[in-house]
Amino acid sequence: MPWVEAAFGWPAEFLKREVSLEERTWASWVLRSAEEACLLDDVAGHEKAMPVLVLDEGAGRAESLLAVPLRARNRTLGALVLTGARGAFDASSRRVLEILANQAAATIQLIKDKEQQRQLAVRDGLTGLYNRRAFNELLSAAIANEDRRPGGSLGLVILDLDHFKKLNDTYGHPAGDAALRSLARLLNQHLRKGDQAARYGGEEFVVILPGSDEERSMGAAERLRSALEKHRFVFEGARIPLSASLGVAIWPADGKEPEALLSASDRALYAAKQAGRNRVVAASTVPPPATGAP
Ligand code: GH3
Ligand code: MG
Ligand code: MG
Repeated sequence: MPWVEAAFGWPAEFLKREVSLEERTWASWVLRSAEEACLLDDVAGHEKAMPVLVLDEGAGRAESLLAVPLRARNRTLGALVLTGARGAFDASSRRVLEILANQAAATIQLIKDKEQQRQLAVRDGLTGLYNRRAFNELLSAAIANEDRRPGGSLGLVILDLDHFKKLNDTYGHPAGDAALRSLARLLNQHLRKGDQAARYGGEEFVVILPGSDEERSMGAAERLRSALEKHRFVFEGARIPLSASLGVAIWPADGKEPEALLSASDRALYAAKQAGRNRVVAASTVPPPATGAP
């Protein structure tokens, strides 16, 4: 249910009031069905006898009404609704308002398009989570942010579904896709404000936990693991068990640069797979790779 988000003049008292598009008001009628401007010089005497904005606004609020839908691509984005005393509006004010409305609607549509493009560029199409490119930027920004705080730390969790190839082979690719979407929903449900989840690729997901040390990050990762294990994933009537292995790395202890931190979490993930899957491993417990010549 939408509510009155902005209002000037007499409707200001209805700010934040919920309004239904189904209500018999001029505002909702214009939003729902008007394709052209609606100019009434006698609102109260009109055969439709509707209030302008809300059902109980009382009589005598407006004698005349000029309402213009904001339309772009045959869709109504909003409406400009002007009220006034008898005779306040004429054909020329109607024309001016129509021109303004057209320009406003075109601009609003442009902004919506831009926002949609921006979302497409940073989101993964299947799960709606951030994509890998966006994640790389988010991780760098999150690290820079912690770097500015004395004693700042950050957890990076990498999660990889167990035996996912087998799931695809057994139940089909659409079942695999549904499982990925289901996991993404689960991640979203378990995130706290400020945490950021992304699809790193295939059946690998990453979560940034700003301000978290190893204990908290391990706790968060373990809750995710356990939630996934308990989650009832059903595809076309078949209950399909899901589990994942998780690696946890902490900035700055396990890596100061994003790449180093990712490698550390990846090593921990690999160790979790090696140890039998469906578990969480901290990078601090995995020896770093041998460096230098033997
Ligand atoms: P492990 O427990 O070692 O991680 O085994 P796994 O089978 O999960 O790992 P592997 O890397 O062998 O297989 C990953 C599979 O993920 C193979 C690929 O077909 C599947 N996959 C990757 N992206 C998608 C996707 O978008 N949709 C579906 N359905 N499958 C995907
Ligand atoms: Mg994988
Ligand atoms: Mg896997």
